[in-house]
Amino acid sequence: MVTTHNLGFPRIGARRELKFAQEAFWKGQITEEELQITGADLRRKHWHSQRNLDRVPVGDFSFYDQVLDMSFTLGNLPERVSKSGGSALERYFRVARGRSGQESSCCGVQAGEMTKWFDTNYHYIVPEFQQDTRFQLNADRLIEQINEARAQGLTPKPVIIGPVTYLWLGKSKDDSDRLTLLDSLLPVYSELLDLMSNHGIDWVQVDEPALVADLDADWRHAFSLAYHHLKTSRLKLLVTTYFGELRENLQLACELPVAGLHLDAISAPQEVARIVDWLPPHKQLSLGVINGRNIWRTDLGKTLDWLEQIHEKLGDRLWLAPSCSLLHVPADLNSEEQLDPEIRGWLAFALQKLDELAILATALNQGRNAVRKELAESALATESRKTSERVHNPSIETQIQAIRPDLGQRQSPYSERITAQQQKLDLPLFPTTTIGSFPQTRDIRQARLQFRKGALTEAAYRQRIREEVSRCIDEQEVLGLDVLVHGEAERNDMVEYFGEQLEGYAFSQFGWVQSYGSRCVKPPILFGDISRPRAMTLEWTRYAQSLTEKPVKGMLTGPVTILNWSFVRDDQPRRDTCLQLALAIREEVLDLEAAGVGIIQIDEAALREGLPLRKSDWAGYLDWAIEAFRIAANGVSDGTQIHTHMCYSEFNDIIKAIARMDADVITIETSRSDMELLDAFRGFEYPNDIGPGVYDIHSPNIPAKEQIKALMAKASERIPAERLWVNPDCGLKTRQWEEVLPALKSMVAAARDLRGSIQ
Ligand code: GLN
Ligand code: ZN
Repeated sequence: MVTTHNLGFPRIGARRELKFAQEAFWKGQITEEELQITGADLRRKHWHSQRNLDRVPVGDFSFYDQVLDMSFTLGNLPERVSKSGGSALERYFRVARGRSGQESSCCGVQAGEMTKWFDTNYHYIVPEFQQDTRFQLNADRLIEQINEARAQGLTPKPVIIGPVTYLWLGKSKDDSDRLTLLDSLLPVYSELLDLMSNHGIDWVQVDEPALVADLDADWRHAFSLAYHHLKTSRLKLLVTTYFGELRENLQLACELPVAGLHLDAISAPQEVARIVDWLPPHKQLSLGVINGRNIWRTDLGKTLDWLEQIHEKLGDRLWLAPSCSLLHVPADLNSEEQLDPEIRGWLAFALQKLDELAILATALNQGRNAVRKELAESALATESRKTSERVHNPSIETQIQAIRPDLGQRQSPYSERITAQQQKLDLPLFPTTTIGSFPQTRDIRQARLQFRKGALTEAAYRQRIREEVSRCIDEQEVLGLDVLVHGEAERNDMVEYFGEQLEGYAFSQFGWVQSYGSRCVKPPILFGDISRPRAMTLEWTRYAQSLTEKPVKGMLTGPVTILNWSFVRDDQPRRDTCLQLALAIREEVLDLEAAGVGIIQIDEAALREGLPLRKSDWAGYLDWAIEAFRIAANGVSDGTQIHTHMCYSEFNDIIKAIARMDADVITIETSRSDMELLDAFRGFEYPNDIGPGVYDIHSPNIPAKEQIKALMAKASERIPAERLWVNPDCGLKTRQWEEVLPALKSMVAAARDLRGSIQ
């Protein structure tokens, strides 16, 4: 019999229950106990829906982030937090979110750094290390949850992050080599394993996705060391990799002295056969055969075609699972009542993926006949998608073929363009601006909900948005910002908003996926060829501009970001899909320019996260990603200023590609990492204007003027003052007006001081 299991279940709840509970707790509207009850309820529900699996994941639930959970389990808290008071959960959230000086009588606490989880749109809290970091086990959370799952009559399989990946994900705060901490870390892992074993656990899933990354000899050696150390445990370890191919680490992974290995057979299909051959005969092989990162139904017949042969070879040693944690997909397709039935028939969310897993297991265990009906349905869905006219639009496919290399070329180089732009715009030194969105108040979201439900007419809704745009312009005028924005009140989400207006997209109602903490995104579903039936942003930008003499930036989301934040069709190369998006955005850019909009920002917040995990694959991706941006942006005349914005982009390694985008101004995330990102600008002279973020919008902390000036001073060590802009790290939509106004006030005051000090 094959064993079925799951690597992780979406924790936020089918109706985002966790999000609402977290936020209520942060606002003091519910108690810690109430939050804990919501957590326990969700876990119970999620295990119930996984009850048909042979083993259910335990420890995958988290109140914020699984990496932060691991830091707590290992007793690795930043000192600034362990010294601050409050309950364990309060301290936990303090690492995640920081604490402002205002909210406590003493001092603020800086939030931990956040970064992308491999190549996904999930963000984790980066573990912090120092040479003298010591670890201490705190397994209460895990043990409690093991007991909970068992009380439900299930077989728990705890999920932890493995020691090497844990170190690999972190960052040394004192430049010491974090790998030297392995020696002191391993005994704590041993202790944890022993403890779980004492609680009757037999298998533990030890996530080591670092195995699919580029590792140098020291890191590879660390894997051997670590697992030889942990070998003494009575527990069986399932070393789990996902998101990519093992490549040169394949043999290393196969030879680790553990009881089992999980391979993501979706992203590394060509490695399956080699692993089946190489894996020592006493080991179990778990194959991730259902895509845990997209929402398409699996072609079950096709999967069985290759899986049956493997099953024949491995017999009971074969385990089946989704390719990775289902954290990256929405919970349940059955919640979706408004999806077009044809498109709905092509989809599978987390629960449906587990059903598919069960069908595959039954087919292997009892023969295909036992699931004849289910397999026929799967075949039908596959065929329907392949042949649907809604997917294929021959005229778009022809346009992509016809793209010439100069389509993405600006008329003149930056040095000439900036003069033309400066003449038109007449901006001061250190111009101030924001990244686009202003607070999405309850009121706006409520109005949108009412409108969608039909309780508010379109005219009334649009009037509401106009009022909001007008308020936003007024506030910016009062603040004295130089380049204004309309505030994006009409947008639910920077990608969904565009998807909704493009042909080739479909939308779920409840397809939420956690991005970080309580923040969820609902990626639109890009299922077919893309076209733009009409202008998407023109009206709001024009309206905003009509209210002020100051320049208003047009605000678009770039093709690469739209692609990377959507669930994307898997039936053609991503490049082709991205170029289709680029042509649609280009039309919008040209419409804005024709309407007299002098500054157009094209956000590519997700450009970096699309980077392949392996460096050797980067150039291929960057080539088409940058080409797509250039096609979208560069059809304008010299006097039109193109901005782009990126968040969490570590620039050092892609700075040259970013420069190739040739945007006149780029705004980036830097404040959380204390301008460290700007190191990139030491070795490579970035040729155009740049706005390093000086206000960390992910934290409730309000920056003081002096703090901002200090950051800008650091920035001007790297970049000439006349090319610097002053702006926040990212959009302000998740913040409150009460936070945003004083923060921007500090920002404008800082810019004024800086101008004074230069003249
Ligand atoms: N213009 C967008 C906003 O301000 C950019 C968001 C982002 O980069 N994630 O909300
Ligand atoms: Zn951003």
